Amino acid sequence: MPRSLASYDVIVVGAGIMGMASAYHIKLNNANKEVLVLDRFGAAGQGNTGRSNAMFRNTFSSVDNQTLADTSINFYLQAQNELKADIGLQQIGYLWLMSETQLHRSEPFLEGMVSNGIETRRYDLTELRQLLPGMVSSFESNGEAALMELPEVQAGIFGPTCGRLNPDKLIRFYAEKFVRMGGKVGFNTNVEKLLVGPSKQLGIDGEPFVWQDSEVKGVRVSGAMSGDLPAENVVLACGAWGNELLAPVGMDGHVKAKKRQLFSVSATGSPELEALLRSKGFNALGLLPLIILPKSGVHFKPVSEENGLWIACEDEVNRPFIDIPDHDLDQYKAEPGYFERGIKPVLAAYFPAFEKSKVRAMWAGLYSYNTLDYLPFAFKDNNLLVVGGDSGSGIMKGDSLGRIVDALYRGEEEAILHGDRPYRVSRIGFDRREVDREEWVI
Ligand SMILES: Cc1cc2nc3c(=O)[nH]c(=O)nc-3n(C[C@H](O)[C@H](O)[C@H](O)COP(=O)(O)OP(=O)(O)OC[C@H]3O[C@@H](n4cnc5c(N)ncnc54)[C@H](O)[C@@H]3O)c2cc1C
Repeated sequence: MPRSLASYDVIVVGAGIMGMASAYHIKLNNANKEVLVLDRFGAAGQGNTGRSNAMFRNTFSSVDNQTLADTSINFYLQAQNELKADIGLQQIGYLWLMSETQLHRSEPFLEGMVSNGIETRRYDLTELRQLLPGMVSSFESNGEAALMELPEVQAGIFGPTCGRLNPDKLIRFYAEKFVRMGGKVGFNTNVEKLLVGPSKQLGIDGEPFVWQDSEVKGVRVSGAMSGDLPAENVVLACGAWGNELLAPVGMDGHVKAKKRQLFSVSATGSPELEALLRSKGFNALGLLPLIILPKSGVHFKPVSEENGLWIACEDEVNRPFIDIPDHDLDQYKAEPGYFERGIKPVLAAYFPAFEKSKVRAMWAGLYSYNTLDYLPFAFKDNNLLVVGGDSGSGIMKGDSLGRIVDALYRGEEEAILHGDRPYRVSRIGFDRREVDREEWVI
């Protein structure tokens, strides 16, 4: 039978972390089902997953985000430490440097984290000064800092479970296991449209009519694979492109895309930056944690294998949403002036070690926001499943979202997340959504 005429039990559109983790868990729990993953790129993880900062944290205000991230992180830790999979995971921690006001505002969230078993610890200013000797915490006679209204650092909130991983390696982990179980992949293949037809085909011209129940029958593809691919179930894990296939069939993808940028600087030749990169006392690796400054969400992480640091910031107001994102992510460029005039003055005020640093690489990708509450969603509508709305933290929740998609596929009310934690899947659906809006967005 030619490939284009094959029929699948499940077609997953999108081979980013959401699609690959979903495909992996579906295949793992439904070994006899034919599962095909399609992506318009040439390999898995070439979309926003591959452009990500790939940091992970379980420190969120929302209990659901805490659970989705915490269980995924524990799965990733098990993958690396027990299954000996190299996913480039480094548990370096997150350190929020906070002003008095920010600390006060965070108190209820921190209490919520404690009651959900999320570990955090607080550093006072004296401890921070010892651990980060190059840090400037107040700006009495600094006119530029006053102009930028930089808050003084009063304390630090540290999340020791948090860290970084390598998204290419993580996606390879899922993809290889999926293929080894007999899962199929079709790359360089664009899904043009969802094929919708009557649930019960009557063979009358013009079907489906309004009086008939309709369902998704498969997808139309072009590229390396072409034609119509029938499927019993279709999973859409299209990330920032989540509306593209749904809008034409009258469904809401619930995502809004926005550009996000990352800048890499080298520590080589700067003893101050090298010392910062290798700050001791935070973690067993002897590395700096991800540092989040009290202004504009400016943050930086150590990338020890490059002897450098990656820098980004919160990027909300006055940055447009992109209705229909280009398929080619290279169309979204990082802006050197944005770093030099926007991020760097803040960075160098708190850490003068960055004053002379030059950007050696920069790139951009797309966040896909669920603007309702900044939490991901997964829902099933008849035989169509949709997962997305990661709002910039999808890698750290990838495993649990994959398990939730699998539970939805099997018609279960509860997914069993890593560590045998049951999770009611309707919590992140739309019909009976139960989540609190996320307040700790970076
Ligand atoms: C700069 C930046 C920094 C980030 N930092 C972090 C971080 O520190 N931690 C974190 O957890 N997250 C972070 N994120 C967010 C993270 O990258 C996303 O949450 C995650 O990658 C989303 O995964 P996804 O599978 O939904 O999307 P993607 O990885 O974009 O995958 C979607 C895939 O669907 C495919 N596709 C879409 N439509 C079609 C179609 N019609 N036909 C065929 N293929 C299709 C695309 O080609 C793509 O490969 C960051 C993102 C950016 C841009």
